[in-house]
Amino acid sequence: MNERTKPPYRIKVVEPISILSAQERRERLSAAGYNLFHLKARDVYIDLLTDSGTGGMSQAQWSAMMVGDESYAGSRSYERFREATDEIFGFRYVLPTHQGRAAENVLFSSTVKPGDVIPNNMHFDTTRANILANGGEPINLVVDEAYDPTNRSPFKGNMDPEKLRRAIAEYGSQRIPMVMMTITNNSGGGQPVSLANLREISAIAREHSLPFFIDACRFAENAFFIREREEGYADVSPLQIAREIFALADGMTMSAKKDGLVNIGGILAMNDPEVYDVTRARLILMEGFPTYGGLAGRDLEAMAVGLREALDPLYLKDRIGQARYLGEGLSSVGVPIIEPIGGHAVYIDAHGLVPNIPQSDFPALAVANELYLQEGVRGVEIGSVMFASEKPDGSFEYPEMELVRLAIPRRMYTREHFDVVINAARKTAENRDGLSGYRIIEGSGPLRHFVARFAPIEKA
Ligand SMILES: *Cc1c(COP(=O)(O)O)cnc(C)c1O
Repeated sequence: MNERTKPPYRIKVVEPISILSAQERRERLSAAGYNLFHLKARDVYIDLLTDSGTGGMSQAQWSAMMVGDESYAGSRSYERFREATDEIFGFRYVLPTHQGRAAENVLFSSTVKPGDVIPNNMHFDTTRANILANGGEPINLVVDEAYDPTNRSPFKGNMDPEKLRRAIAEYGSQRIPMVMMTITNNSGGGQPVSLANLREISAIAREHSLPFFIDACRFAENAFFIREREEGYADVSPLQIAREIFALADGMTMSAKKDGLVNIGGILAMNDPEVYDVTRARLILMEGFPTYGGLAGRDLEAMAVGLREALDPLYLKDRIGQARYLGEGLSSVGVPIIEPIGGHAVYIDAHGLVPNIPQSDFPALAVANELYLQEGVRGVEIGSVMFASEKPDGSFEYPEMELVRLAIPRRMYTREHFDVVINAARKTAENRDGLSGYRIIEGSGPLRHFVARFAPIEKA
């Protein structure tokens, strides 16, 4: 038995999910215009669309919600939220927000001006969009290994310190309102960042008097990888590692829908009283009074408990173990994946699986749709549908990789569910020569993946 997946919980509340017939799935997918975003959730058997806000809460979280204090100002729930964030992150000022992008919006609209440049290992979509919306330029300085799907280096989320030094020299520190690091690197496949790298990047930022902020969405998973892979941390608790990480930073943004183990919630924190002053005013305008920030008191309670539970080594071992179980299972049935397996998702290399489907015919969409047709599994296409961009001459520029992401909700699925996913992938691989590509019949622009409709290309 795989020692790594020993769930430290059992199931007390159950949510029924439907199992449609193959014929029903074909009808639903056709009615959805062959875009999994248009499916009704009740037509999905195993939903691996995202790990954001989709996890299962614990009995401790549900019971904490019952004592939520819904006072507008100075709520007790904010105090409990503060106790947890003080213990883990240790920043002087902490503002709750309704989710991660709200924390980003409040922070960047307070600190970024047109012409500014914000370095990150890799910006997540909403981070990037919020910087652009404020006239800033997001730049990605991740190590080169991050772009090689076969490179197995342990910390592929690291920032390249030389790239950062060059960026500071090129743009000048006046134009850089902060340096950011995303842990784990979501857009780069959930790959972790080492403490050594965080220390080095933090030191470079300090050297140039630049604030250093962490996008902390998956901080607990990142701490687990440090414990597992970095010299000298095998016996250090994830909490202690987290404290070491955040002691290097001047502030953070976070979507608590990830390692906060809640369905909604976010955090913005910092040490600088001037930044606090400005962001607090914006928070009141955009989210709410600083002791609730766009959330109910009960949500703050659930977050306070969830942040601590996410650092439980047994929970983390089970969680990361689930991703590995799924990834190794996919590999074992001949489905190529990105390695090493990251923290929150497994990425199928669709180009490697169906090399006969050209990028113009959306190979990753073909694979994602086949997983649904086979077993009712919903993943998400991260390829040409999402990233191909039209050039002025009407031709298309295609992304480097064609991926299907299978994100794993926290504490939701069991090994039996993952076996179904592996089976769907096995049948997809067996049927690879029979898969057809798609043509787009509706939808355009950079967000077309959410709204587009497609038709299968008839095979000659
Ligand atoms: C999810 C996520 C965000 C945005 O958070 P939301 O709660 O979805 O607004 C920002 N950064 C990273 C790395 C994320 O994974």
